[in-house]
Amino acid sequence: MKNLLIMLTFAITLTHSYAYVDKQDISLYQVAKSDIGLKQITMEFEIVDTDETNVFIYVPTFRSKHFEAIAKTEKLLKSSIYNDQKGLKLEKGYRNFDEVVAKLKEFETLYPQTVNLEKYGESALTNQLYYLKVSHNVHIDNKKPKLLITAATHGDELITTESLLRFLENFLGSQGIERHQEILNNYQLYFIPVVNPDGFMRQRRYTADGTDPNRSYPYPLKPNIEPVKCIAEEIAFFHSQNFVGSIDFHASGEMIMYPWAYTYDSPIAGDLAKFESIGKKMSVKNGYKIGQISKIIYIAPASSVDYFYWKNGTISYGIELARSKAPRAKKIPEIVNEASTILYSFILSF
Ligand SMILES: [Zn+2]
Repeated sequence: MKNLLIMLTFAITLTHSYAYVDKQDISLYQVAKSDIGLKQITMEFEIVDTDETNVFIYVPTFRSKHFEAIAKTEKLLKSSIYNDQKGLKLEKGYRNFDEVVAKLKEFETLYPQTVNLEKYGESALTNQLYYLKVSHNVHIDNKKPKLLITAATHGDELITTESLLRFLENFLGSQGIERHQEILNNYQLYFIPVVNPDGFMRQRRYTADGTDPNRSYPYPLKPNIEPVKCIAEEIAFFHSQNFVGSIDFHASGEMIMYPWAYTYDSPIAGDLAKFESIGKKMSVKNGYKIGQISKIIYIAPASSVDYFYWKNGTISYGIELARSKAPRAKKIPEIVNEASTILYSFILSF
């Protein structure tokens, strides 16, 4: 009876927190970098961007009083940026989930020979999961190398999705260019612009139940982890194809990273050389730092990069774009350029 009561309380709490998180009201603040409360603020709140003198922060409205007590130089830029109809109002330059899907559909309509949009499942909150295949004669498998390119595994890393969409817009819009022809003829590209739509719609890193999707993949030490729904679907899709290479875009940090993440052990020698040489090509123009995840940042078990390499020998990278998760509008084109040169170097390495 007691157990039942605990379970019931837990279930109610969970349901309640779902509803609560979805309706969460958020304000955008700035504080000076010199603010004496900044250290405490970075520990408790989400930094969305910085410029030379200020730090920009999302504050759940119910915590505003607490925030204002810590911050000494705070300035409220926007209150109540949650909009009931369309989720959070986005910073200028970014698309919400519906707009992302509309854009993908538009690509398919405009370029039916080279673009195919498909669903591969749905998230825990029943949002549709999409991949976009891009290649010459897209509806047939021409046995050319298959590459997987994903974004927004962490739902608040808005620049990753926006970069893929703008890359695709440029790429598909100028198919006559020789390099684009070469890519369309010799590769089969699969894009997943939003891996975690439940997080993306709320501009939250995690899935709706608070799980970090990039700590949710099985890995050699814990092969029986049960992934969250959107990752389970992605894994099933991954195994339906044979991907020789992959990039999972994250933000931020300006880093090009390869397995392993769960251990300091290196990948086998031949693969290590490949990871390093392709990594170098990808960093030539942007100076991004290259390295093994566990060594360049920290031990990070249960990530996509380890899963893809472990299960299929896929040459899998995790790339931390930019210096913030959602740089302001005027900075976006610069990041799109970086992502595009990374993608061209990556693709042409296979
Ligand atoms: Zn991330």
